[in-house]
Amino acid sequence: MAEPVPQGWNESLSADLRQRKEAGLYRTRRVAETPPGRLIVIDGRECLAFCSNDYLGLAGEPAVVAAFREGAERYGVGSGASHLISGHTAAHHALEEELADFLGRDRVLLFSTGYMANLGVITALCGRADTVLEDRLNHASLLDAARLSGARLQRYIHGDPADPERRLARTGGGRVLLASDGLFSMDGDLASLPQLATVAKQHGAWLMVDDAHGVGVMGAGGRGTLEYFNLNQQQVPVLMGTLGKAFGVFGAFVAGSELLVESLIQRARSYIYTTALPPAVAEAARVSLCLIREQPWRREHLHNLVRRFRSGAAQLDLPLMASQTPVQPLLVGEPKQAIRMSEALWERNILISAIRPPTVPAGSARLRITLSAAHTGSDVERLLTALEEVM
Ligand SMILES: *Cc1c(COP(=O)(O)O)cnc(C)c1O
Repeated sequence: MAEPVPQGWNESLSADLRQRKEAGLYRTRRVAETPPGRLIVIDGRECLAFCSNDYLGLAGEPAVVAAFREGAERYGVGSGASHLISGHTAAHHALEEELADFLGRDRVLLFSTGYMANLGVITALCGRADTVLEDRLNHASLLDAARLSGARLQRYIHGDPADPERRLARTGGGRVLLASDGLFSMDGDLASLPQLATVAKQHGAWLMVDDAHGVGVMGAGGRGTLEYFNLNQQQVPVLMGTLGKAFGVFGAFVAGSELLVESLIQRARSYIYTTALPPAVAEAARVSLCLIREQPWRREHLHNLVRRFRSGAAQLDLPLMASQTPVQPLLVGEPKQAIRMSEALWERNILISAIRPPTVPAGSARLRITLSAAHTGSDVERLLTALEEVM
């Protein structure tokens, strides 16, 4: 038999794309022309949208847009350098101080994205001698960060604090970082943070919470899942949050002790070797933070919409997942079925994307519905009617 011919780039990439198409896993993009509000124009169609992470409707908020414009007039567009050279402006500094005050933590450090914040924290804190324990459903950036750090990575059963506890009891030597999403991005459920904090403390491990979807949304004051569970900086030494979701802006932060933040400034490569966020972005985020603090009605309205959606969906027997948060996935199963439903909703001018593996485990493709304070009660009714028709 002849040796198999080694495949070149073109052959192997084409084969990969073909396989993805056949399996219903091919990803495409639609082109939007408006801010991410309740109504958006996308691929030329006006749709009622239920898939952005702009949970409080702040991305298009006039006061936030005005702060961005004024920030650009004062500071220019680009920051011109990394934070450690000359890119760290008064706007960044003020945002860090205001976030620390809001969150009740010693200090905050801004990062350019949440992905980079997670890479920076875990690679700065952990090395080959250490162990990172992560929930199996953690965000990809937390998993990638642990891999990049060279630490031993163990993934524990989702939502079962007894599993990391058993694993902690078995790890011999080295420091342990226990890292979890606060609010799981594709399932909408909350981590059992009080139990994880207790387990971490018993074993001298640090608990890190990625609260990308919780900050602004959870807790009476919008401080996130740690406020919701009443956990402090001693119990959860590392808190990460993003500015691109409920804040409606862009960027991310890590909040914790003086020692943590100073260590990150010295060691986090995704902080050191990258251009600082545009200062105008920081100015916009400062105004978002004011609105998060001063307008609790946004959260109250949002949580009312969640309750209304869940009771309507229960009456229709829709396959809801067990979430009490603005992330309300409908479990479908097979990728092609999820795409069919997403397309049928599109025909009804409703935008909800089909979430498929590898973003979620095989066999658990879903429609990830997200609610926003920008929605109205009648938007939720329209959504329920459409879902009933396409199920
Ligand atoms: C969105 C998200 C991130 C990444 O944040 P970006 O600022 O978009 O890079 C990290 N973790 C979780 C849980 C997220 O949902």
